[in-house]
Amino acid sequence: MNMNGRRGLGRFDHEKEEMIDLLTRRGIVDEGLLGAMRRVDRHEFVQDAFVNRSYEDSALPIGCAQTISQPYTVAFMTQALGLRTGARVLEIGTGSGYQAAILAELGARVFTIERHMQLLMAARERFEKYSYNIASKCGDGTLGWSEFAPYDGIIVTAGAPEPPRALVDQLAEGGTLVIPIGGMDIQDLHIITRTGGAIRTAQATGFKFVPLIGKSGWK
Ligand code: SAH
Repeated sequence: MNMNGRRGLGRFDHEKEEMIDLLTRRGIVDEGLLGAMRRVDRHEFVQDAFVNRSYEDSALPIGCAQTISQPYTVAFMTQALGLRTGARVLEIGTGSGYQAAILAELGARVFTIERHMQLLMAARERFEKYSYNIASKCGDGTLGWSEFAPYDGIIVTAGAPEPPRALVDQLAEGGTLVIPIGGMDIQDLHIITRTGGAIRTAQATGFKFVPLIGKSGWK
C-alpha cells in the first residue's frame, strides 16, 4: 500500500523498487526503514519538472536554491539516528518534507524547522495531504527548538562548519545528533551521541549538502 492508500501498480512502482534495490546493495538493510522508503512517494516531494527523476539516487532542486537530499543520504542518516518507535526527533532543514515524512513513517514524533517560509508552506501541504502529524516552524534551526527538547534524535540536513552548541545541548541522554560537518562543498557526516554527559563522535566521509545558514552555521 502506498501513501494514497492505493494498492497495485502505480506509475513509479518499478523505479521505486529499483531505488530500494540500490539502497540494499549500498548497505541499507533495515527492513523497517526500507519499508518506510517504499511507502513514501518521493515523486510527491519534487518539483513537476523533475518528477521523472524522482527515484534516481540524486539530490533534486526544490526551489529557493535548495535540494531534496539523495535517497541514499536520507536512508543513511535515518539509519544513523538509530530510532526506536515513539522517539522524539528534531529535523533542521525541512526542505520538501521528504525526510520528515520518512521519520514519521517510522513512528517518530517529528519536529522540523525550515528557514525558507515558501518551502515550509509546501512541505506543510504535503504533511496535511498525507495526514502526517508533524510539528513545524519557520526559523533558524541552528538554535534548536528548546520548547520541545530534549530529543532522542536530531538530524541536520544542511552542512555546517561545526556542530551548533544548542543542538548538542538539546539531545536527550543516549540521544544522537546526525550532522554534516565540513566546508561549503563537501562534508563528513558526524554521528554524535550523548551518554552520561560524555559526547562521542563517529564519522562517515564524502557527503554533499547545501549550507546550513544561521547564527551557529554559515553567514
Ligand atoms: N530534509 C530536506 C532537505 C532540504 S535541503 C528534504 O527532505 O527535502 C536543506 C534545507 O535546510 C534547505 O531547505 C534550507 O533552506 C534549510 N536550512 C538551511 N539552513 C537552515 C537553518 N539554519 N535553519 C533551518 N533550515 C535551514
